[in-house]
Amino acid sequence: MLDPWGSSGPTNDEDYERIKKEFGIEEIDEVIRQKLIKNRFIRRKIIFGHRDLGLVLNAIEKKQPWAVMSGIKPSGPFHLGTSTTALEIIEFQKMGGKAYYCIADIESWEDNGITYKEAEPIAVDNLADILALGLDPSPDKAYIWRQSKEPIVKDVCFKVSRLVTQNMLNAIYGEKTFGLYLSALVQTGDIIIPQILEAPQPVIVPVGIDQDPHIRLTRDLTRRYYKTFFLPGATYHYLLAGIDGSEKMAKRNPNSYFTFNEPLESIEKKVKGALTGGRKNKKEQQELGGEPKNCMIYKMLMYHFEDDDAVLADEFERCVKGELMCGEHKAQCAEKVLKFIKQHQKKKEKLIDKARELLDID
Ligand code: SF4
Repeated sequence: MLDPWGSSGPTNDEDYERIKKEFGIEEIDEVIRQKLIKNRFIRRKIIFGHRDLGLVLNAIEKKQPWAVMSGIKPSGPFHLGTSTTALEIIEFQKMGGKAYYCIADIESWEDNGITYKEAEPIAVDNLADILALGLDPSPDKAYIWRQSKEPIVKDVCFKVSRLVTQNMLNAIYGEKTFGLYLSALVQTGDIIIPQILEAPQPVIVPVGIDQDPHIRLTRDLTRRYYKTFFLPGATYHYLLAGIDGSEKMAKRNPNSYFTFNEPLESIEKKVKGALTGGRKNKKEQQELGGEPKNCMIYKMLMYHFEDDDAVLADEFERCVKGELMCGEHKAQCAEKVLKFIKQHQKKKEKLIDKARELLDID
């Protein structure tokens, strides 16, 4: 069972294949890939699956409105995991979708015990991060809300609840607190808000595979309650493991990730300590080549820090041929990460006031 609030998830290709089959997630085939080749996550095959992405493609072709929805739980600073979905929503916004971005403060209360008040400065910080990454907040291109302040999403929670039984929630999520169930129903409101505020239209929600239970619940309730709405679609990306090689980035293991607010020295140390796909020694690396597919340095570059596909492909090739050594590559990666973080922090500083204004927080 996939647990959207848990600390473990699929770790290998077999797990992903099994989940795709079990829950009916479709492959991103070559036709879709070519149509969306501008999207870096699809081009680089980080997004591997979808539900109803074809509806969005139709809307793009017919120049009809469509939306992309995502959000963040304000429970801590941005890190590589949270920025993956942020970058995905930005990519879809650039392709013409109106971006709906939710600050899930009800969920951070239910899951982490962070009060709405405590969540405010975190939410401002998180929103400034996504603005610095490139989200365009103009009202015709984006709608941003806090769950606790948005009556529509709470209203949806009550409306659809009539159709929800304890057994259904148990089957989807396993036994959880009632608060987590409620936050999942509020999230149903988050996902269908574009269609409530505008008109029925295709909506795509970029998520990690661990969030699929929310998508399935929302699609089921939309089918039964909002009969004229499009079933919300989703794209699924591979989850980034901990950079130290642990199963998942997790707060209890600070070497498994770095945040965008962390001191540069600490980030550099973590990048240089990342798990690589390198061999025991230089001689073996030259003879056998490295394994970029199992290397967190390569993955960090692929997900975030190398914009140029040709550079990435060249590094992959030189690695497998044994021409690129891990020490050298780690140093290059650390340089790129630090350059990015420095520029990002500068941009972000200037956007804090904008984030406050957008969230109506003093
Ligand atoms: S050379 Fe680079 S990509 Fe290859 S295993 Fe080492 S760090 Fe990873």
